[in-house]
Amino acid sequence: MSFIVAVDGPAGSGKGTVTKKIAQKLDFINLDTGATYRCLALEVLRKGIDLNNEEKIIELANNIDIKIDSTKEGDIVYLNGEDVTKKIRQENVTKIVSQVSAIIPVRTKMVELQRNLSKGKKVIVEGRDIGTVVFPNANLKIYLDASSEVRAKRRQKQNEENGITSNYEEVLKQIIQRDNNDKNKKVGALKKADDAVLIDTSEMTIEEVVDTIEKLILTRQENEK
Ligand code: C5P
Repeated sequence: MSFIVAVDGPAGSGKGTVTKKIAQKLDFINLDTGATYRCLALEVLRKGIDLNNEEKIIELANNIDIKIDSTKEGDIVYLNGEDVTKKIRQENVTKIVSQVSAIIPVRTKMVELQRNLSKGKKVIVEGRDIGTVVFPNANLKIYLDASSEVRAKRRQKQNEENGITSNYEEVLKQIIQRDNNDKNKKVGALKKADDAVLIDTSEMTIEEVVDTIEKLILTRQENEK
């Protein structure tokens, strides 16, 4: 039976951590849609394509093979058959990904892929435009937010855990820049859907956010029986 939970929010709002935990607890698949745009950004860097060359980037988007294998330990992301789960988190990818994802035909392609990956499943999908564009009829929509300072601290800690050295001021600057890019996209801009439940996670622990969303899912599932 299909049941779709859409979770949107800016970088560092807790989407990734929280959705992974909820998926494990409730036996859902967790789909991180940012990974699809990150794969394309990585390939753009590898091929040395100029970021202003939209035509080449669109051609690349139509010719790369992205597979996401959702496991209990998290998603394993394959780009043309290669495991790039870690590589797509590197800072050089993070820096350009919002520019790559602003190209409209790129979004059309990725949205189609994201819908296919979710088809007929119990899935918790996280991104920026899930409740507004990818799944406007999702069973439940959540919008997670937090102050940019809190988000930058979280991202820096996450980087450390992944063995990536980063500077707080630089991470904060990048988060603000990425928010601006993501909120001002012509299509698929970061935006709370009118019917999404807003949760500000600035002062909440991960467990509190997980509990809150879990209750919302269980109530919604009960009501839809
Ligand atoms: O969530 P994550 O930080 O991995 O997303 C990377 C980038 O991919 C975002 O900054 C955004 O530009 C883009 N993205 C998007 N739509 C989504 C998910 C991510 O445009 N649904």
